Amino acid sequence: MAIEFTDKIRRLPTYPTAGGYALDGFAMLASNEAPFGPMPGVVEAAAGAVLSANRYPDPSNMSLRRALAARYDFAPGRIAIGSGSCDILLSGAEALLEPGAEFVYAWPSFSVYPHMAAATGANAIVVDLDENHRHDLDAMLAEVTAATRLLIVCNPNNPTGTSLPLAELEAFVAQVPRHVCVLIDEAYCEFSTLDDPDDSIALARRYSNVVLLRTFSKVYGLAGLRVGYALCGDERFRVAVEQVRQPFFCNSVAQAAAEAALLRQDELTRRIEETVANRLTLVEGLEELGLDVADSQANFIWHSLGDGDEDEILEGLRARKILIRSGRALGRAGWARTTVGTASENRRLLDALGELV
Ligand SMILES: *Cc1c(COP(=O)(O)O)cnc(C)c1O
Repeated sequence: MAIEFTDKIRRLPTYPTAGGYALDGFAMLASNEAPFGPMPGVVEAAAGAVLSANRYPDPSNMSLRRALAARYDFAPGRIAIGSGSCDILLSGAEALLEPGAEFVYAWPSFSVYPHMAAATGANAIVVDLDENHRHDLDAMLAEVTAATRLLIVCNPNNPTGTSLPLAELEAFVAQVPRHVCVLIDEAYCEFSTLDDPDDSIALARRYSNVVLLRTFSKVYGLAGLRVGYALCGDERFRVAVEQVRQPFFCNSVAQAAAEAALLRQDELTRRIEETVANRLTLVEGLEELGLDVADSQANFIWHSLGDGDEDEILEGLRARKILIRSGRALGRAGWARTTVGTASENRRLLDALGELV
């Protein structure tokens, strides 16, 4: 006899891990993390929070929400916090989706979205990206019905790095019926040169059904602490995702570190500029190798692997202590997603690919 699990456990896909964490001497270009350490002041703030680790964290996350409210000029009541923004995705799914409900998202896109449908039993309506690896908003709009509860646009899109200009997004949002929650996953918006990341916030001010999802994991370099946030068009979204979770979903160290990181917008800008410059160099290098490269507005690049065998190339990179993410696991065999690392990591990667493709 074995213990019996729910139906859901059979439905749920397993998150495709990069295979290897913090390996010694490896160039970690598989998970879109920042290559930089925490920003100035963050370690001290986190250490200060550890001193009171005998106390539960503030369950209302009020200090962090107020800091975000000040930074974005947005009502604190409409800012939701999560243990990483994935926590808000999963609790948003629990709050909005159920059997009979429909959920529209694009593919290839973020691997957590299929999980949201499987976890809730909702009907996933998956719309292919267009030939430029971008969301096909017209095709997505055509899938909206009275049963649609949630529609996600990942902008810039993971894994392709492509981004839609704000004007296109706004024209789309204006046409989506108000009963549908439009969640715009902006985990990488700070790296986009198409629009100022502060500008899309107007969508969450104007449309009550819009939720902008952002994170401290990527540009702020706090992936290991797990903290993300959502700017919500309607306070009820925040209340709903708080209802479905345990009370202390974001730990005190993460809250303190995120708040300290927010104070260093100067350093943030410097890091973004460095990453964007390194992205351009990496794109040029990949193109010189004859690979197809999608237009990236993120801190990673979606590119083909030429005529070589995907497994052999990834194995060859691993032997050279470089990890990138296989495209097969992300929805497109023969392609890969490579995170923009430091200038020297990127050089190592280009040299290795030069030998392998
Ligand atoms: C990395 C990422 C996130 C953020 O995940 P966290 O849980 O905040 O670490 C969200 N959406 C997308 C598309 C991502 O790539």
